[in-house]
Amino acid sequence: METHIELKTASKMFCGCKNDPFHAGRPNIYTCPVCLGLPGALPVANKKAIEWTIKLGLMLGCKINKLSKFDRKHYFYPDLPKGYQISQYDTPFCYEGKIETSFGPVKITRVHLEEDTGKLLHQNVNGRGVSLIDFNRSGVPLVEIVTEPDIRSAAQAKEYAKKMRQIVRYLDISDCDMEKGGMRLEANISLQKDTSKELPNYKVELKNINSFRFLERGIEYELERQEEILEKGETPVQETRGYNAEKDVTFTQRTKEEAADYRYFPDPDIPPININNKWLSEIKSTIPESLDLRFKKWQEKYNLKPESIELLFETSAEADWLDKLFEIIAEEKLSAEKFVNSRINKKIQLNLFEDRPEAIVEQYKKLTTVDDIKDEDLKIIIDKVLKANPSAVSDYKSGKTQSINFLVGAVMREAKKKLLQLVELALNKA
Ligand SMILES: [Zn+2]
Repeated sequence: METHIELKTASKMFCGCKNDPFHAGRPNIYTCPVCLGLPGALPVANKKAIEWTIKLGLMLGCKINKLSKFDRKHYFYPDLPKGYQISQYDTPFCYEGKIETSFGPVKITRVHLEEDTGKLLHQNVNGRGVSLIDFNRSGVPLVEIVTEPDIRSAAQAKEYAKKMRQIVRYLDISDCDMEKGGMRLEANISLQKDTSKELPNYKVELKNINSFRFLERGIEYELERQEEILEKGETPVQETRGYNAEKDVTFTQRTKEEAADYRYFPDPDIPPININNKWLSEIKSTIPESLDLRFKKWQEKYNLKPESIELLFETSAEADWLDKLFEIIAEEKLSAEKFVNSRINKKIQLNLFEDRPEAIVEQYKKLTTVDDIKDEDLKIIIDKVLKANPSAVSDYKSGKTQSINFLVGAVMREAKKKLLQLVELALNKA
């Protein structure tokens, strides 16, 4: 897998232009000689973007290259005015990490930093089809994460990608808006019977996937398509394919006759970057507690399921806030699990992370009193009615199912008494 993620730094990667392509009012308003690729313009690397890249790498358990640099990757395309993209070649900031999935670990080969390109808009102007270029995105910091060929199924690819987005959002370094292209997925797919052998001599690149579902569907389709070709004794063509969601098929985008020659070389305008121990320990001190550890703690201490907590928050700051909240809930001897469910069912109106945790706990307390009376009393009433009418119960069990009506009637009479009490209580408070 190759994943591209746009960092949400205030300014672009190599210039002071605003980094906010998704909210720009017009095309080409956040531009300057550097991100327009004008001759003579000098790039200056964005320190924050480098720190965030290293932060992500550390979160993924990567090693850090103490001496790193930026390289020029040459290719021609209209959205790349310089004729090269500033990227990293042999000294990525981070290397050799991993992400755990339920199917097994996925090793991370590298995490490097580069710049995004401009955006091409194919439009009809005065009856003519034209291609327009918007440079608001040109030079936006872009992190690329590359994995080893450890992923064995479409489901694992999807889980890996979801986990990656979760970690990036947790660090609060990107919104990972997939629809807008803030996070882009690319799968390299090949098939073989014996996974202990070397990789097959071909691979198909599935590019520009902008949803987890499309990633899974696209890979599934490719696996079937490639299997059919291999069964015939042929080898699938090495190419780049796209995914058509409407037809649920992949299609040829570009066939590579030969490996692209990007003529990488170190960018002479940007000095090498020395990540000394002092800087590295400063970055390390900003790393939050890992998600896995946090979930484990919440599970043990508050009996919470990771699946339900996941829906509650995104960033580590939000998780810190929840930590406080769960602590108060525990002190009040209330159930954190029930709180999470009430929150998911939108029974709690106050805003998490904005209102004080204490106020939210107060609201939750009121909610639990009403909820508990209802649930528990009904259970008690039903038990009582069943115990008091053993013959109706045995009638029901022996097949005379209409006796349930008698039991329901008895439960309703009992419940009515309790309801009267509750309504009276509410009326007194009103
Ligand atoms: Zn600029």
